[in-house]
Amino acid sequence: MMDPRHAILFEPVAIGPKTLPNRFYQVPHASGFGSAKPLTQAAFRGIKAAGGWGGVCVEYAPVSADADEEPHVAAYLQDDRDATALGLTADAIHEHGSLAGMELYHGGNSSKNVASRHTRIAPSARTAEIHWGSAAREMSVADIARIQSDFVRGARLARDAGFDIIYVYGAHGYLLTQFLSPWHNVRHDSYGGTLANRARFALETLELVRDAVGADCAIATRICLDGRQGVKGVRVEEMLPFIQMAEPLVDLFDVTVGSWPEDSGTSRYFPEGHQLSWTSQVRQATSKPIVGVGRYTNPDQMAALISSGEFDLIGAARPAIADPFLPRKIAEGRLADIRECTGSNVCILKEEDFRHVGCIQNPTAGEEFRRGWHPERVDPTPDPQRSVLVVGAGPAGMECSLTLARRGFDAVHLVDAEDELGGRLRWTRRLPTLGDWGRITDWRRTQLDGLDNVQVITGRRLTADEVLEYGADIVILATGSHWSSDGTQPGTRKVITDAAGSLTPERVMAGERPSGQRVAVYDCDGYYVAPGIAELLAGEGYDVHLVTPESVVSPMSDGTLEGPMLRQHLHDLGIHQHTGVTLRSRTAQSVGGETSFGDTWELAVDDLVLVTHQVPDDGIHRALLADADRLRESGIGAVHLIGDAVSPRWISEAIFEGHRLAREIDLADPTFPAPMRRDLPV
Ligand code: ADP
Repeated sequence: MMDPRHAILFEPVAIGPKTLPNRFYQVPHASGFGSAKPLTQAAFRGIKAAGGWGGVCVEYAPVSADADEEPHVAAYLQDDRDATALGLTADAIHEHGSLAGMELYHGGNSSKNVASRHTRIAPSARTAEIHWGSAAREMSVADIARIQSDFVRGARLARDAGFDIIYVYGAHGYLLTQFLSPWHNVRHDSYGGTLANRARFALETLELVRDAVGADCAIATRICLDGRQGVKGVRVEEMLPFIQMAEPLVDLFDVTVGSWPEDSGTSRYFPEGHQLSWTSQVRQATSKPIVGVGRYTNPDQMAALISSGEFDLIGAARPAIADPFLPRKIAEGRLADIRECTGSNVCILKEEDFRHVGCIQNPTAGEEFRRGWHPERVDPTPDPQRSVLVVGAGPAGMECSLTLARRGFDAVHLVDAEDELGGRLRWTRRLPTLGDWGRITDWRRTQLDGLDNVQVITGRRLTADEVLEYGADIVILATGSHWSSDGTQPGTRKVITDAAGSLTPERVMAGERPSGQRVAVYDCDGYYVAPGIAELLAGEGYDVHLVTPESVVSPMSDGTLEGPMLRQHLHDLGIHQHTGVTLRSRTAQSVGGETSFGDTWELAVDDLVLVTHQVPDDGIHRALLADADRLRESGIGAVHLIGDAVSPRWISEAIFEGHRLAREIDLADPTFPAPMRRDLPV
């Protein structure tokens, strides 16, 4: 039953000619699907509508040929074929009574245009960034008219495809913002100079789109306020008057802060709702509905935000990926079931770098179409009497046990050597800034506790013999991995001589400390572990040197939008960053190696922490398979290996594998994933 304090979240909200059924709104966000994977897109967004999001949007939709985003994937909306493809998504959203939003877009000087070879256009000949090898040219008045008519064409296509909310996308420094920005826009005609002139392009475009489709659709705009890092020159002092100018033309203001890394700030560096100090200012400029994000997962916080009048809708991208059914769970009073976003930005890493969104918390995200996975439903097993033993309660083992239990297996035993569940997350969540990653363990623990058919046994390390004698029909080994201390480096295939005895992340997290004040943390992993250990030790007063063969510290953090912040943060903590260095040797007083240019490199240190690579702990698996007769006699019908014990990977992938095996365990050979459906052009 819903808590009456949350009823305010389920009030309908009128936006122009349309009415949202509630205040839950999945704001536009990239997925890697665009109009290129239309069935994947439709299934991905449709699930959110099914989960209770009253408004569901697709990602940016370039309206013009010179808004070419390749190699990134966008929801191109330029002709009938695009509209047919994206119309499937509108239909999928409508099936559940929600409204569908389309975010019409032109990137101006930040569009890539490398694949299309179009010249970038901009209010003035100023580039967004030194990147992609292409400068921008100043838009002529004919260009302005062309782009505006492209927005109108896009709006008509979107309306005819069934979309209810049509955005004119202005935020994040794209074309509309570039016109508003006195830094980007140094024109001398009626589109440059005063704020009224710089606002002209946006206001005219909004008016044209409104004239074309405003009777049928709600008109939204996405705007951004400074934020800590500014918005390419548009100050809040000018943004608020602009909002007042735009108000008559707009049915919904979607408000964000300046730069994307800040807007989609990770839990490492930004608390929930951190944007509010900027976005809450919008209310003073308009009485029209406002939506904003804040990585909100707590309904009390959401209700307070609505009651305060600062926002009318609770916007979400990442929390809706982590739990598409978040609104439904609030409606049903099932708050403990909410799978809270960790704020790790693995979704962004996957979407941006690999062009297919995924989630560390929700293994079904992005798998709705190709694997047919529903975030809340699993098929019951046809053979529930088989008993299952899962060894290892890390992310893979916990997810696998949970999913098997949800599939109705009568008896699932999850056994771990340690007293606390979570595997590597036991210590990862204790690294500075990574506390919210603990939600991965906490959610699964709560879910496991709610199921009668799972027994969680902690503090018991099983041997291969004990596994054979356990009496299970199916054995799943999720025994994880450990960090190597042998000094080998898989990437460079070089060996650090005399590295044996060096510390590893697990040993540091178990309480061991460097033998002296100066310590090198050597990182070949490139993500969060080495910076986390470095920060921990620096916080305790050690003189920490983070050494890596990579050209920057933690290159993976660039994919999660954290890279520059992380490196600044380490710098501010006094951690020395040595890049492009491959270690080759260690003595009691130093580490030595070579730079990427071949020069000799040496550093005096008292101790070394190796974050080189992880080694699978697959001993039980090997032992079971080594004696086929004994395995047969034990009555065990199947043995599976999952997670890091197969191959050490990101937490998201270990969870995915645990989930996949549980879904597919009834197949003839579930070792290898079942075929996926490929998306087809419409
Ligand atoms: P993954 O990410 O693949 O889930 P983790 O390393 O996070 O792997 O977790 C593996 C878990 O398996 C750890 O909690 C560890 O204590 C447990 N484990 C490993 N070997 C055994 C064993 N022989 N008996 C019980 N638990 C084990």
